Amino acid sequence: MAMRAINISLLTKRRLTLGNWLLRMPTIISHGVAAVAIGKVFTPERMPARFWLLSVVCAMLPDFDVVGFAFGVSYSDMLGHRGLTHSFAFAFIVGCVAALIRSQGTPRDRKTWFIFIIYFFIVTASHGLLDAMTNGGLGVAFFAPFSNTRYFFPWRPIEVSPLGLDVFFSSPLPVLWSELKWIWVPSALVVSASQIVWSILKR
Ligand SMILES: [Zn+2]
Repeated sequence: MAMRAINISLLTKRRLTLGNWLLRMPTIISHGVAAVAIGKVFTPERMPARFWLLSVVCAMLPDFDVVGFAFGVSYSDMLGHRGLTHSFAFAFIVGCVAALIRSQGTPRDRKTWFIFIIYFFIVTASHGLLDAMTNGGLGVAFFAPFSNTRYFFPWRPIEVSPLGLDVFFSSPLPVLWSELKWIWVPSALVVSASQIVWSILKR
């Protein structure tokens, strides 16, 4: 549970700016890439657009907590960045809702329903798990709302995406490069490996 020293006073004053959002775009897209990779590992079937859209939205959703900055919520609060929306509890609720949306118009089947809850839970939780591998900011409150303790993994190779005031001093390239190396390339490798496994299992 290594914690990197940060200036909390700066974090509490962060505001949403256009530059902030633009600079965070690669990171938001990278979470979507991870979601597609998980989906490809999950099933070799051709899935409808609704499935892929839900997967990507689930993986991106946790970062909507940055909206709280505009309302004076501090990064370190339970409702702050990497707080409640990055928790396993939130991922479970999102998983249930996404499974419900996915099942609209399809025959009700308890087993399929259960499998999709687990799937969308994993996709949503992947966001916090990747954030816990970044090298900055505060850790992830995996056990919110029961605990606001922030966690990082011991291994944190991913360059953190800057927030608020950092934008003026930041170039998007190190974050982009880091995410290509640690999210996009591993995702492509995992998908390729899973395709081989699926093709063997299908024989
Ligand atoms: Zn996040």
